[in-house]
Amino acid sequence: MSSRHALAPVRSVDDHRQRIEDLLRPLAARATEAVPMDRALGRRLSADVYSPLDLPVFRNSSMDGYAVRAESVAIVPVTLPLSGVVAAGNTGAATLPAGGAMKVMTGAPIPAGADCVVPVEHTQSDGATVTIERSRAAGDFVREAGTDVRTGQLLAAAGTLLKPRHIAALAAVGLPELPVYRRVRAAVITTGDELVQAGLRLLPGQIYNSNGLALAAALTENGAEVVSLAHSTDDHREFRRRLHEAVTAADVVFTSGGVSMGDFEVVKEVLSGLGGEFGHVAMQPGGPQGITVVEGTPVLNFPGNPVSTMVSFDMLARPILRELSGLPAITSTELPLLAALHSPAGKRQLLRGKLTPEGVEPLAGQGSHLIATMAQADVLIDIPAADTEVPAGTVVRTWSL
Ligand code: AMP
Ligand code: MG
Repeated sequence: MSSRHALAPVRSVDDHRQRIEDLLRPLAARATEAVPMDRALGRRLSADVYSPLDLPVFRNSSMDGYAVRAESVAIVPVTLPLSGVVAAGNTGAATLPAGGAMKVMTGAPIPAGADCVVPVEHTQSDGATVTIERSRAAGDFVREAGTDVRTGQLLAAAGTLLKPRHIAALAAVGLPELPVYRRVRAAVITTGDELVQAGLRLLPGQIYNSNGLALAAALTENGAEVVSLAHSTDDHREFRRRLHEAVTAADVVFTSGGVSMGDFEVVKEVLSGLGGEFGHVAMQPGGPQGITVVEGTPVLNFPGNPVSTMVSFDMLARPILRELSGLPAITSTELPLLAALHSPAGKRQLLRGKLTPEGVEPLAGQGSHLIATMAQADVLIDIPAADTEVPAGTVVRTWSL
């Protein structure tokens, strides 16, 4: 079945991105959840987190050595009777006899009555006694309780993007889970009768489905949770079914393919009937675009050529997804262009480029189906719609991939 839809007027990349951002930004007010510590990396705290205990939890030794009273080692060398060993993890209460020494390991509780530790390097021991060769002051090599963290102290504020260093501090106070914002839940639907899942044999005319995995990877890298990765043939009924499942499961849905001017453009045909807007965005690759709200859920419709899909994601969806996830914005970098470019008038060009110490080099093979070039690229070179001849040496904007 074929149908044609009038194209909306050509829209700029910035205008279309703005539309998408306006639709997705309300997702910032989404729900929170508790995640176990081992799944908290990269998530954003939804509440201030306070320490439930002191750190150090108890007074302990910062060295392997001998716990003594400073007054016992005021004049050295001195030989003291040894009355036991306290290892890290000893839970019994040790008490130092007056005038004696106890062997202690790093992290072991300081025996009651001791006030300093003499590092093992400055001692000699025969097992029954220890000869101390250096005097120490009270407090030396003793880590007092609460000197790192006090009970009730703020450890990490709401909004913190959790890095390994935060996990270290929050784990040290024994928290089993953390309150975080739920990730943006995204669903991906690829379309096309010709597409086959990796691992299966290709029949003549078939190709492997790469956009599904590529979009899922891009979503994950930019802070979203991919809750469904589905494929539909170009059959309307099947696409409607996949669409309903996706909008039910996700906060935002991405489709690939089926939005241009062919005979079997299932995405455009089905979604136009549901209020979808389809038209051209003045960029290359990634010109044909659609946007629809289905059952209250935004559905972004990217074209199917693999490079177009990825460039659409990077230019249109990546900024808002990063903002919603609390990830740092990707800003453009100005670099000298190392080879002259010809660029068609009226369309912003996003060319795959490779970084060198001298600047950015446009890669050979800029077709929107040339996925290997995309894999080699470090950046998109952003040539404004009005520029047609861009000489080598021109300073151009680039976006990292
Ligand atoms: P379409 O936008 O559906 O007309 O597709 C444009 C081109 O992209 C065609 O050559 C498709 O075979 C190809 N294509 C569409 N979807 C995918 C996909 N998921 N993976 C790889 N190639 C695709
Ligand atoms: Mg198709």
